[in-house]
Formats: sequence, C-alpha cells, structure tokens
Amino acid sequence: MDFPSSEVAAVAHDPNCLFCKIIRREIASKKAYEDDAVYAFHDIAPQAPTHILLVPKEHIATLNDLDEAHEALVGKMLLAAGRLAAEAGISRSGYRCVFNCMSGAGQSVYHIHLHLLGGRPMGWPPG
Ligand code: AMP
Repeated sequence: MDFPSSEVAAVAHDPNCLFCKIIRREIASKKAYEDDAVYAFHDIAPQAPTHILLVPKEHIATLNDLDEAHEALVGKMLLAAGRLAAEAGISRSGYRCVFNCMSGAGQSVYHIHLHLLGGRPMGWPPG
C-alpha cells in the first residue's frame, strides 16, 4: 500500500537525509513494508539473505534523539520487524534486529534505522 504524499509531506524531514529522500520517493528503494509511521526497504548491500531496514517516516538522527513521545513509534518498528521476519520465513531459524548508534557503533546514515538480518547463522559477539 502506498501512502499519500500529502501524509509523508506532513512528517518532519531533513531534505539532505538519504533515508528521508527514500521515504519521499526521491530515491528509489525496494519496499518491504509501509504504514503511516514506518517505511521498510531492502538494504542495498545486504549482509545476510534477509536484510531489511525499517525507518520512521519522521526524521530522527540517532537513538540519542528519542524521547517518550517516540515510544509507540519504536514499538511499531519492532512489531513490523517481527512480521517481516515471519514473512521472510526466518521467525524460527532466528534473526537479529540491530540499531547502530553513532559512528563508533557503525552508524553511517543519521536517520534511525532498525536492521532486520536473518537467513544465515549469526555469530556472537558482533563485530
Ligand atoms: P548503518 O551503517 O547502520 O548506518 O546502516 C546504513 C545502511 O544503509 C547500510 O547497511 C547500507 O548498506 C544501507 N544503505 C545505504 N544506502 C542505501 C540505499 N540507497 N538503499 C538501501 N540501503 C542503503
């Protein structure tokens, strides 16, 4: 389902942000899921057979910028990740959900995103 561009336009965004451009369809992506608050698309450089990024439509740079007002939004992202894992057939074999926060943890795009990774064995501890 596509959401009307008027709805997307109403959400706070950063015109220089790569993921805001993807959400606003200014840059192409392979969509996996969308609702009023969350957009999910396949990672361009997948690190596992399933590698989907779930992003809020609202521009939020890092996990450090979340506050209580975002509680429901983060819950929606996690619930959507679980549903996408089920769709991908990896609920039982296992999957990993990762938020990288800041460059020291590997964050390269400053719009929060939940990595959903699965379809292969995962090592621990992560690199
Ligand atoms: P992170 O390093 O945690 O900030 O993750 C950013 C992710 O965005 C990486 O896994 C990239 O492969 C992915 N990525 C960057 N550009 C695009 C794009 N145009 N479409 C889909 N995924 C992208």
